Amino acid sequence: MTKLRLAIVGAGPAGIYAADILLKHERAFEVSIDLFEQLPAPYGLVRYGVAPDHPRIKGIVNALREVLDSGDIRVFGNVRYGTDITLDDLKRHYNAVIFSTGAVRDAPLEMPGIDAHGSYGAADFVSWYDGHPDVPREWPLEAQSVAVIGNGNVALDVARMLAKHSEDLLPTEVPDNVYAGLQASPVTDVHVFGRRGPMQVKFTPLELRELGELRDVDMIVHEEDFDYDPASRDAITSNKQLTVIDRIFTQWRARETGSASRRLHLHFYARPVEVLTTDGAVSGFRYERTEPDGQGGVRGTGEFREVEVSALYRAVGYFGSPLDGIPFDERHGVIPNHEGQVLGDDNNQVPGVYATGWIKRGPVGLIGHTKSDAMETIQHLVKDQSSWWSPAEPAEQAVTDLLDRRGVLYTNLDGWHRLDAHEVALGENQGRERIKVVPRDEMIRISRD
Ligand SMILES: Cc1cc2nc3c(=O)[nH]c(=O)nc-3n(C[C@H](O)[C@H](O)[C@H](O)COP(=O)(O)OP(=O)(O)OC[C@H]3O[C@@H](n4cnc5c(N)ncnc54)[C@H](O)[C@@H]3O)c2cc1C
Repeated sequence: MTKLRLAIVGAGPAGIYAADILLKHERAFEVSIDLFEQLPAPYGLVRYGVAPDHPRIKGIVNALREVLDSGDIRVFGNVRYGTDITLDDLKRHYNAVIFSTGAVRDAPLEMPGIDAHGSYGAADFVSWYDGHPDVPREWPLEAQSVAVIGNGNVALDVARMLAKHSEDLLPTEVPDNVYAGLQASPVTDVHVFGRRGPMQVKFTPLELRELGELRDVDMIVHEEDFDYDPASRDAITSNKQLTVIDRIFTQWRARETGSASRRLHLHFYARPVEVLTTDGAVSGFRYERTEPDGQGGVRGTGEFREVEVSALYRAVGYFGSPLDGIPFDERHGVIPNHEGQVLGDDNNQVPGVYATGWIKRGPVGLIGHTKSDAMETIQHLVKDQSSWWSPAEPAEQAVTDLLDRRGVLYTNLDGWHRLDAHEVALGENQGRERIKVVPRDEMIRISRD
């Protein structure tokens, strides 16, 4: 019986689901899977993207952990593809590779002043509040009034984390340095701006409703944004999500405001124009009021407005990063592929190389979507047996020997269990879910102890 030695690069949900689906897939060969992850801990954006006050979603790690614990997958944490392990190495030791490296950077937003001091990408802020080991521990929370650009769930996460009183985050796994930073924040007003109308938003009802439940935070919406055009009115009756979103807005429009110490303002029909600066630092945000164009889009009205803010976060999407030796679509930030089979410049399939998750189809969709995505990729991998690589050194030990020779301080599954137990124990002492260990060297030390 043939054996498929498979490398998966990226231990986020996409990579872990791909491993799970392959192990359960009907097939005429044995499988041995090695999962490489650049961070010392697995779970990708479930650990380092999903907000700490979303424990139900964070709980998905329990299902992912069950897959890793099934005993059929070796995990190599703290191993970065491109530096610690290369494509040539993978070809020498495996029959095929699946890249599930996700998207960790902010998509660019071209606008005068965007590089000013106090203008940030949401991805960096998210990494900070989720305790990512590779971002600075301190975050400058000095602004009283803040702008958040974007109308997706990440924009709402950022706005909520900025507006929420830090004490209400304490029971969660929010890292200590983040709690302290948020506690000292002087913020009173968070303004969220979307280019289009309330019925063209990308966020989901659950995320929106949560904003209205924040303690001591008034939701401010503007009547002028709710003079719906026919397309929006149709959308409310034909789309269940929008029916709920409209209901939430209707409640907020009727609410009394004025007693809370913080306010979260939602501005629609606002096209970003410029980040205003004073001495190189953010001092305001200029936008053009838009209106529906009758075809589901918006057009400018020529009316410009300004809001005084001293920090600005752009949450306009994530973007994938290129990987050494692997084709990359610079425009969309993904690995070009046909249903997960990676395509070269000539549009022909690159043998042995596959992609899944956000790096395959772009940074949209929820964790659950990475499952169906992985299914598609695995079906091709299984069918493509005749074009797999023929590795010169397929023995499992050969890979560990290679990493040892290179002095790579890799972590394994037992190490993750040690780190996990350590974090949960730290939390238990203070009645909290867990306290994340943030510095990379400390994560590695605890894991490899
Ligand atoms: C801020 C934010 C909040 C979100 N909240 C929710 C939510 O509440 N609910 C929900 O369902 N979805 C949410 N999502 C979406 C969800 O996180 C994604 O759908 C999912 O994580 C995508 O999975 P992935 O495995 O493709 O990518 P990722 O989760 O990004 O995993 C990729 C992994 O690859 C690793 N990697 C990257 N490069 C290399 C390399 N060179 N070598 C080795 N390893 C590498 C990364 O470290 C990472 O661990 C959120 C996303 C963001 C950005």
